[in-house]
Amino acid sequence: MLIDTHCHLTYDGLREIQDEAISRAVAAGVERMITIGTHPADHRLADALVLRRSEVFLALGYHPHHAAEITLENMDELRRSVMNLPRLLAVGECGLDYHGNSAPVDLQKRVFRAQLDLAGECGKPVVLHVRDAHADALEIMTNYQHLKFVVHCFTGTQEEARQWIALGAYLGFTGIVTYKNAPFVRQAARMAPEDRFLVETDSPYLSPQPVRKIRINEPAHVVHVAEQIAVERGISVDMVERITTANAACFFGPSLLQ
Ligand SMILES: [Zn+2]
Ligand SMILES: [Zn+2]
Repeated sequence: MLIDTHCHLTYDGLREIQDEAISRAVAAGVERMITIGTHPADHRLADALVLRRSEVFLALGYHPHHAAEITLENMDELRRSVMNLPRLLAVGECGLDYHGNSAPVDLQKRVFRAQLDLAGECGKPVVLHVRDAHADALEIMTNYQHLKFVVHCFTGTQEEARQWIALGAYLGFTGIVTYKNAPFVRQAARMAPEDRFLVETDSPYLSPQPVRKIRINEPAHVVHVAEQIAVERGISVDMVERITTANAACFFGPSLLQ
């Protein structure tokens, strides 16, 4: 079995077909998926979904794109969710995104740290979103090394991968690992320690080869991510399945496999 550790089944494009997409995933051997809620309204959609689909688990957080909208009340709401929702396995995605027109940096950092503190208090792992913000995110995480965390959709250099691994991070690989213009991501997929990497789609985005033309990515396509990692590491797809499913259970907790 494969696990898609990061998808957005509630986002436009995928939301409208979420039940078919979940069924196609299960048929493809992707029997578990973690849907990531990224802002208050999205949290409600994601929670409603996991209550009716036993294949889907939940991570909730405030994406850095939404940092400027997040109030203290929203943080209280997230705290209640993290403490009370039985199918919630992680906090996030949260982090820093300096690409394009994101929220002001100081706000992003504040909202990020608040979620790291919450994860620490509640004993949950954290899903990190880091885009064009490697140095700042790494610096913040040096103060949170006690947390279990994954740098989702890893797209950094080999040196950045090495720095994250040294800090205790897991690396999440998406369909980008199959793209011609991303040799550095394949390099990271080759050098990641066996117990520190996960596979994900980040669907509805980032359709992998050979289904890149299908604009709405979906959890079933994580199979192609696993296939590429098998090629890079010179092992069977079966082995990638076994390794990444064990890693996901270790990261998110054994309830993921129940
Ligand atoms: Zn992300
Ligand atoms: Zn995401």
